[in-house]
Amino acid sequence: MRIDVFSLFPGLVDGFCSESLLGKARTSGLLDLRCHDIREQTADVHRTVDDAPFGGGAGMVMKPEPIFDAVEAIDPPRPLILLSPGGRRFDQPAAEELAAMADTTGGFSLLCGRYEGVDHRVVRHLVDAEMSIGDVVLSGGEVAACLVIEAVTRLRDGAMGNAASPVTESFGASGLLEEPQYTRPAEYRGWTVPDVLRSGDHARIERYRTAQRLHRTLRERPDLIERRGPLSDDERKLLEEFPADPYH
Ligand code: SAH
Repeated sequence: MRIDVFSLFPGLVDGFCSESLLGKARTSGLLDLRCHDIREQTADVHRTVDDAPFGGGAGMVMKPEPIFDAVEAIDPPRPLILLSPGGRRFDQPAAEELAAMADTTGGFSLLCGRYEGVDHRVVRHLVDAEMSIGDVVLSGGEVAACLVIEAVTRLRDGAMGNAASPVTESFGASGLLEEPQYTRPAEYRGWTVPDVLRSGDHARIERYRTAQRLHRTLRERPDLIERRGPLSDDERKLLEEFPADPYH
């Protein structure tokens, strides 16, 4: 999968995506990430990439010329997605869509804004879509780009050690958050791991885990429960059989 990133700070994205799972995906060829510096496309001596907004107002706006030139010089894989607080919310279904789409398109591209954002002609005539990583304002699209790249790459075949992980974890097929996890030691500072997890009774462990997923989702994200519909009788029984692992 090829991903091209256009940014004024390409090193931010390149650096983040060089470590751990993403670094491995790049070394193995699973991810062909190319980070481009928009500023390289400026012709003037000051290498200007921004200017004051028409109509007045606070801050600066990214000029269209260097962005168009940078993108057109490369002809990157499409869709070209602008990271923007005003875009469609990027979530797990959106990550799955991009990961699946890369099979046919070969990849996609990301454009990172800075300052107050980009000239609207970029939005209208150059990019194919806008995506937001949440109702929060960042200073630039680079962190958002890293988030998209990581979420999509880990869904590609071969990117994760354990192929089952994307299925059972939060926002997976169950529509629930993941249950609390424990590892060795069984006792730490006097805090013990729930007995059931050490019982070896796999059917009971599975029931316990489902109950914990339900408890956690009811507590933290009742909107997810609403979306998947009312609890079944079996699920209600599970909640009674296994009380919630305490939090905080
Ligand atoms: N003035 C804009 C915010 C600009 S923030 C507004 O009020 O909507 C500068 C850049 O950071 C944006 O161009 C975008 O690329 C990036 N950015 C900020 N918040 C973001 C978010 N929630 N999702 C994706 N990108 C974001």
